[in-house]
Amino acid sequence: MALLVQKYGGTSVGSIARIEAVADKVIGYKDQGNDMVIVVSAMSGETNRLVGLAQEIDTKAKGRELDVLLTTGEQVTIALLAMAFEKRGYAARSYTGGQVRIVTDSAHNKARIKSIDSENIRTDLEAGRIVVVAGFQGVDEESNITTLGRGGSDTTGVALAAALKADECQIFTDVDGVYTTDPRVVADARRLKTITFEEMLEMASLGSKVLQIRAVEFAQKYQVPLRVLSSFEEGPGTLITSDYEAGDIMEQALISGIAFNRDEAQLTVNGVPDTPGIAYQILGPVSDANIEVDMILQNVGADGTTDFTFTVHRNDYDTALASLQKTAKTLGAREISGNNKIVKISIVGVGMRSHAGIASRMFEILSKEAINILMISTSEIKVSVVVDEKYLELGVRALHEGFDLKHEI
Ligand code: ADP
Ligand code: ASP
Ligand code: MG
Repeated sequence: MALLVQKYGGTSVGSIARIEAVADKVIGYKDQGNDMVIVVSAMSGETNRLVGLAQEIDTKAKGRELDVLLTTGEQVTIALLAMAFEKRGYAARSYTGGQVRIVTDSAHNKARIKSIDSENIRTDLEAGRIVVVAGFQGVDEESNITTLGRGGSDTTGVALAAALKADECQIFTDVDGVYTTDPRVVADARRLKTITFEEMLEMASLGSKVLQIRAVEFAQKYQVPLRVLSSFEEGPGTLITSDYEAGDIMEQALISGIAFNRDEAQLTVNGVPDTPGIAYQILGPVSDANIEVDMILQNVGADGTTDFTFTVHRNDYDTALASLQKTAKTLGAREISGNNKIVKISIVGVGMRSHAGIASRMFEILSKEAINILMISTSEIKVSVVVDEKYLELGVRALHEGFDLKHEI
């Protein structure tokens, strides 16, 4: 007998029939004697629909009221799933994040969980009830409703698993595990049996939305056994493990996966004087506007002036451009330009640590497809390139083929 926290994503609860199917699936585990805590997302498309409504009122809608609106999506699914359990003769209770008391900071739309009061849940489990919790939401110290950022139900699942010291946190979704790359882009992508936390963290932060990055961070920090599985078919899924456990398998693999991010935009400031403080003068106002900067490139030309390029989330492109245009005059820049039709493709793998030449192999594969690289960034276990968005599919497929990821080593 175990305590399992299972999270079902939007597609998995996307219709009444699917909610009923989730109820049957969970009951299968319950009947084996497990204590069950179920976290659900809103029905697929619902959060986007709500965002759309908010934007009809205000294209820049954000903050407290947006959170009040968005959390209604998950309130619908917890109630429906709990009803489905009750109908089947199983006692169940649904809870919003605030009712559990999942306490977060007050950073609306991207709040971080600070604490979880697991008392109510434990009482219910002891009484034999199935507990259903709304993903993606909490309340701050003043009981204002908050959300954890898109994809945040994964984090709710992992955080509850950590608080309850669950035996495993199982993320049920519309794919049967973590693949070498998004199976929607590469048909012969391969499911990984295991992936290290470190690699999963890189994959998630470089754009693989199969797990929210904070969920992976949380699981690593609190040593929560984490598995990604399919809601629709049986199978072992993918276990996210610590480096040590992954051991030999990972040592041989040069790269484990390819991630990509379509939400990128690039800004360039040309011909600014190459003086101390220039980076700060350019990026200070951008960061004051609460815009996160990702890759940064600076090169000094023969004439002694500097070209400065950086990338931001595509949603922040207009604001960042406006901020730069303001700064341009003070900086004496020759030209400001931008491109919001770019994407980032990354290869990830702990095997890179012990093998040289991975980056140049990547560049060779891309060059054979005549894909022009706009920016490059590397770290110990990843290489990222920025390319024109029209090359995304071609680039990912060529790399998958070139690094022979469809075959297990
Ligand atoms: P859910 O609604 O269940 O949270 P998501 O859409 O957030 O589901 O995440 C699952 C999706 O993640 C898959 O349908 C797949 O297209 C995408 N994905 C991206 N990269 C990967 C990957 N490396 N492995 C598996 N799925 C991936
Ligand atoms: N419903 C939220 C979203 O679409 C949270 C989640 O599904 O994880 O982002
Ligand atoms: Mg998700």
